[in-house]
Amino acid sequence: MKTILVLLFFFGICGAANSAQTSGRIPTWVKDSLLWVDLPALAEARKMPIHWNLLTRQLELGKNGSKITWTENLAWVNTTEGVVSIEAPAFLQRGSWFVPLSSALRLIGSAQGTPLFWDTTSHSVTTRIKSDLIGFKVSKKDGAELVELRLSKKLPYETIFHPPHFLVRFSGLKGDSALFAQFRASKFIQKVTPSQEANGFQIRFQIVEGIEGGEVLEQDSGRAIQIIFGEKPAPEPIDPDTTTIVKPRKKKIRTVVIDPGHGGKDPGALGKDIYEKEVVLSVGTKLRDKLRKAGFIVKMTRDDDTFVELQDRPAMASKWGGDLFVSLHCNAVDGEERRKKTDGYRVYILREAESEEDKAIARRENKAAELSSKKRKSEISPVEWILLENQLNSFTKESEHLTELMVDGFQNMGVRKMGSGAGQAGFMVLVGAFMPAILVELGFITHPDDEKYLMSPKGQDELAERLARSILRYRDSE
Ligand SMILES: [Zn+2]
Repeated sequence: MKTILVLLFFFGICGAANSAQTSGRIPTWVKDSLLWVDLPALAEARKMPIHWNLLTRQLELGKNGSKITWTENLAWVNTTEGVVSIEAPAFLQRGSWFVPLSSALRLIGSAQGTPLFWDTTSHSVTTRIKSDLIGFKVSKKDGAELVELRLSKKLPYETIFHPPHFLVRFSGLKGDSALFAQFRASKFIQKVTPSQEANGFQIRFQIVEGIEGGEVLEQDSGRAIQIIFGEKPAPEPIDPDTTTIVKPRKKKIRTVVIDPGHGGKDPGALGKDIYEKEVVLSVGTKLRDKLRKAGFIVKMTRDDDTFVELQDRPAMASKWGGDLFVSLHCNAVDGEERRKKTDGYRVYILREAESEEDKAIARRENKAAELSSKKRKSEISPVEWILLENQLNSFTKESEHLTELMVDGFQNMGVRKMGSGAGQAGFMVLVGAFMPAILVELGFITHPDDEKYLMSPKGQDELAERLARSILRYRDSE
């Protein structure tokens, strides 16, 4: 007997798909820490035909030859390539099909032969050009302006200065003009015009009159091209009488951002009698009060027991115009014997770890990313380290300086020093803090003596006092 198939054509029938059509926004849904997308609306946005088979409870996308078949409550789909597993099974909601967004983008993208990306602002799907030109940035440097072009590999290029234009031409490159869309006129650069030519990609900088154009530097084995634009230097005064003595300037630090780690559903490391999230909140609050008394503006990424996403913390600090970012944590180790032996504080800056021990500590702290509803990554990839270089170059020296003062200020305290007292590792929470930023492991919550100290109001007060004094010393230093 033949099975009777009920086929529904979806165009404009479903409310969700309809609203997606008119507003361009594709409906999504957050459930079980995953972002789900309205599959018919997404398929429609990608102009894929949809067939809903009510009898088999299957949703088919695409035509023969590139068909993807979803089945309700099944964690895999049928494609022309075979059976592919997905993050989670599809479910019905508001009369439509919801599927994990990342699986949907991957599968539809591969069926259409183009990588697909989700644009969170417009709630829509985009295809970005895959280009070897991956970054563009303009920053200030010693009174000049530094343009940086980032490449995923070394590429041939030429530069031409023909005032008022400075041209950079990459032969054989397919470029993404969207990289330059955010640029607004700066002091020395009036306009940036990217254009795709038949034989390559060209970027034209329109320079302010009287500006020296373009000392070109290559960094990072040719994967970064820097162009410096600046005013013609004025001749140095020779008369010794005109020399004035300049007093060493104190650092301009007004806003300190305190970041007590973890919180809410993320308890952090567990002691016998207290959680890391409780210790760091207490110390953080005490530190806030002391710094406010000393005249600082102090912001906290959390001042109660709530969960804050790792990556949101430095973003908050940047939004507040922070001049200093201090993330507070407690350390931990596994195993009864190691717990008895391992103690001490350690102050960290963001740099690739040099020791396995520091690597492991960062890995443990980065675990909070796994609790994120946004499915965020818990590790910094090699490419990201390259992209981070600017942040590191700008602030590492200052962060190191603060670290030194802190280790010095922590002497003869209730917690001992762990190793040299200072370290470096890939802490996600420090990524994107465009200011001097450190992460302080106050002590080992898994060590009996350290835990007692970290729990006690006296210990917490001493820690806050030492932290505050080091920050004051930092502000008053050269
Ligand atoms: Zn922590």
